[in-house]
Amino acid sequence: DRINDRVQAGSKFFSLEFFPPRTANGAVNLISRFDRMAMGRPLFCDITWHPAGDPGSDKPTSSTSIANSMVNYCGLETMLHITCCGLTKQQITNHLTKAKNLGIRNILALRGDPPGDEEWKAPEDGFNFGTDLVRHIREVFGDHFVIAVAGYPTGHPDSPSYEEDLQHMKEKVDAGADFIITQLFFKAETFLKYVSDCRAIGISVPIMPGILPIQAYQSLRHIVKLSRLEVPDDIIDTITPIKDNDEAIRNYGIFQATEMCRDLLDSGSIHGLHFYTLNREVATIQVLKALGMWCEDPRRSLPWKTTANHNRCK
Ligand code: FAD
Repeated sequence: DRINDRVQAGSKFFSLEFFPPRTANGAVNLISRFDRMAMGRPLFCDITWHPAGDPGSDKPTSSTSIANSMVNYCGLETMLHITCCGLTKQQITNHLTKAKNLGIRNILALRGDPPGDEEWKAPEDGFNFGTDLVRHIREVFGDHFVIAVAGYPTGHPDSPSYEEDLQHMKEKVDAGADFIITQLFFKAETFLKYVSDCRAIGISVPIMPGILPIQAYQSLRHIVKLSRLEVPDDIIDTITPIKDNDEAIRNYGIFQATEMCRDLLDSGSIHGLHFYTLNREVATIQVLKALGMWCEDPRRSLPWKTTANHNRCK
C-alpha cells in the first residue's frame, strides 16, 4: 500500500507535519506526541528538513533520526523532507539511501532556501531546483519513493511572476512527482484558484492544501515573514486587538482553519488536508474534530503495545 494510491482515491484523509526539535528533551516530547496524534489516524506524518541541524550528522534531533523514530518506533507512515540546495549529488544520494534503509517510502523533494541574500549558485555537482532533485530521485531510486513537491498558491516569492512559477511547477511534476503539498494560505479561494490554474496548464496530480491553524500572534508574524506571505486585512483586523490573549488567538485560529477547510472540502476539489502542526497538537486536533475527520482509535498505540483484537475505527 503506497500513500499515493490513497491520495488519489476519494475518501477524506489528513497528514501532519512536524519539525525536528532542537534538544534531546524536545525530541522525547515530540515522539510521545506522535503516538497521541497517531490515534486520529493520519495518512502520513512528515518531518521537515533543516540543513543546519542535519549536515549528515546523527545528532538526536536530526531530521533523519526523528523520521527514524516516526517510522520504526511509532509505526507511522513517514514522509521525510529533503532540500537539495547546498548539497552535492552524492550527499543527497547518501541521505536518500539512509532513508530507504530505515524503511522510509515517502520524500518531499525541495530546493530549500539558499543561505543569505546574495545571489546563490548550486555546487558544480549539485542541483539548482526542486525539479532536478525529483529527476535525480527517480533516476537513482526508480519508484521506491513516493515523491511529493511543494506548490505556492500565491506564487513562489522568488519567481518573477505567478505564471512563470506555475510553468516551473509543471516541470517539477513532469519530472516524476506524485502529488503536490502547498504552502500555507489564508483564504479557500486562493487555493481553489491555484488548483484551477494548475489544471488549466495540464498539472493533473493531486494537490493537498497546507493548513496552518493560527496558534499565536508572534508565531504567525514569524512564519509569514519567513515564508514571505501576506496576511489578509480582515484577519489582521480580527487578531490585532486580541494579540496578547493567547487563548483567544488560538480559538480564532481553530475557527478560521475549520471554516476554510470546510469550504475546501465542500468545493469537491480535494479530499486531503495537510496540517502544519508547529509540533503542537491541540489546535490541529480541534480542527479535525470539528470537521469530523478525527476518528480516534483508543487502542492505536505504539506497535509493541498493540493487542491481537485491535479494532480500528472505520
Ligand atoms: P523550486 O521548485 O526549485 O522553486 C524555487 C524557485 O525557482 C521558484 O521561484 C520557481 O519558480 C523557480 N524555478 C524552478 N525551476 C526553474 C527553472 N528551471 N528556471 C528558473 N526558475 C525556476 N524548506 C526547508 O528548508 N525545509 C523543509 O522541510 C521545507 N518544507 C517545505 C514544505 C512545504 C509544503 C513547502 C511549501 C515549503 C517547504 N520548505 C522547506 C520551503 C522551501 O524549501 C522554499 O520555499 C524554497 O524557496 C523553494 O523550494 P521548492 O522546492 O519549492 O523550489
